[in-house]
Amino acid sequence: MDEQVDLNSYLRAQSGGEDKKRGQASAGGSARDTAAEAAGASSDAGGTAGPGAGAVPVPGDPLSRTEAVLTLEEWREACQDCRRCALRQGARGVVFGEGHPQAAIMFIGEGPGGDEDRLGRPFVGRAGQLLDRILQAAGLSRQEVYIANIVKCRPPGNRTPAKEEIDSCYPLLAKQINLIDPSILVSLGSVAAGKLIHPGAAITRVRGRWHKLEGRDVMPTFHPAALLRDPGKKKPVWEDIQQVMALLRRLQ
Ligand code: SF4
Repeated sequence: MDEQVDLNSYLRAQSGGEDKKRGQASAGGSARDTAAEAAGASSDAGGTAGPGAGAVPVPGDPLSRTEAVLTLEEWREACQDCRRCALRQGARGVVFGEGHPQAAIMFIGEGPGGDEDRLGRPFVGRAGQLLDRILQAAGLSRQEVYIANIVKCRPPGNRTPAKEEIDSCYPLLAKQINLIDPSILVSLGSVAAGKLIHPGAAITRVRGRWHKLEGRDVMPTFHPAALLRDPGKKKPVWEDIQQVMALLRRLQ
């Protein structure tokens, strides 16, 4: 295993700061609770308005509802009106993610593009169609896995999301991951690797090797959009997916 990122420790540390700000005692509850608390605190890291930015939660902030949310569908509803960062202003809506609510594998990309923003679904453009073909070749379907992104609103002009936008949105993804509870995460591209593996992770260096995030196995690989630009990356991606499938078979 490579560098290990303990998401629970991260969430606990963040939520501790949040508790102090709120003057509340720690719930000391489940991982889901911890994620919920941490979600609020992370808004500080992003420097955005939200529960973590002050004593008064911003109306509509999904993080103000984390403790009451127990299911993935409830969390989807809670996230729909999110305005935690400026990305929402330029997007048609929040692209929450889709797939099996208890998927063993979760694919995490960068952010919605134009097609995804228009349809409200992740990975439905050309890159998404390529991901579908990769899944199909591996014997998987979209209905068996879960697909989401590091940020849930489309960055203007499909630019790379900024650090503060990623930090604002990550608590939403962290709770989503905890609710789905996959054994394996597949991070797609450098932005996802930079958040899930470690900051500044070079995808060319970290891909193809297993990493850990809160007890989950993480396989970073190239984003399907990169394969469209450089077909030479198809072979290494396929090798990475074969590792994922081999681990899945061992876990089942
Ligand atoms: S990108 Fe994420 S944090 Fe920002 S408004 Fe959309 S859902 Fe909220």
